[in-house]
Amino acid sequence: MDYPRALARRWATVAVVGTGIVVYGGCALLHYDLGSTTVSFVMFAGLFGGTAWFLGHEVAAYRRCPRCGTQQTGRPGACPDCGYDVAARPRYACSEGHGSFEPGLCDCGRRLAAYDPPDVAGRVMRMVWFGVALLVVLVAVGLLLG
Ligand SMILES: [Zn+2]
Ligand SMILES: [Zn+2]
Repeated sequence: MDYPRALARRWATVAVVGTGIVVYGGCALLHYDLGSTTVSFVMFAGLFGGTAWFLGHEVAAYRRCPRCGTQQTGRPGACPDCGYDVAARPRYACSEGHGSFEPGLCDCGRRLAAYDPPDVAGRVMRMVWFGVALLVVLVAVGLLLG
């Protein structure tokens, strides 16, 4: 199995197990019957398992070298194949908007200047926190509705 799918599956499994612990634990504390608890669990597990699956793919993509495509499996660092700094992801662009992963001259002859890409790590962290907040809200609503 390739790494993005393996990571997505691992994240989804953790999310489903975590959802199970929270839902069954919460419902046991409140003495809900097993039937409605299981309905809640299936609903939340599908929702959060799917979210975690998607996030796993996002993180795996973030760890892949954008220059040569080599996949790293831990905290990203210098690419073992081409030496590109996958963590810092320096990007360059000329005034015409042509992108490059190295400084110097663009293929069109213009100078390449450092280019700030969108904040990918910050976006992933916001999505993770959004997922956590959603879990808390949905569990709270689910418990209130019984
Ligand atoms: Zn590379
Ligand atoms: Zn150019």
